[in-house]
Amino acid sequence: MMKTFFTTAITSLALLTMGCMQQNKNEGEGNELQAIFPKGELGPAENFTGNAWNTPLVPNDSTYNTVIGNVYFEPGARSNWHTHPSGQILIITDGVGYHQIKGQPRQTIKKGDVVKCPPNILHWHGASPDAGLQQIYILPNTEKGIVRWMGPVPDEEYNQQ
Ligand code: MN
Repeated sequence: MMKTFFTTAITSLALLTMGCMQQNKNEGEGNELQAIFPKGELGPAENFTGNAWNTPLVPNDSTYNTVIGNVYFEPGARSNWHTHPSGQILIITDGVGYHQIKGQPRQTIKKGDVVKCPPNILHWHGASPDAGLQQIYILPNTEKGIVRWMGPVPDEEYNQQ
């Protein structure tokens, strides 16, 4: 009698747990990625193609001279071509995207990758067409400047392997 009760209780618990997992799986479907930080503010259209959401994490100050933030690129979204006077480090926390230095082939970047963009090198980064991209950006030595924006990355350039 007692054994039946426990078996039923454990089975119910297992089913409930599976139910929750199933629900989480459904929530994770589509192109929305797992977010660590708030989604933030939509990046300005003059600097981005598609929707890129920015959350500042560490504001600039004269002690650290470093800016850190999170960007979520929706599928297909990307930055304009740009340079960083002191370079930039990207830490990809979810999704799949691209990083390209001018004159070099497009690089695929994904969750767990760390990418260095050297100082004053023209480049862009963003999501792949099918999956979004979550990236943490680190901008060191901000006393030399943060970013210089150039023109957008047209579809032909974005799609070129
Ligand atoms: Mn950059």
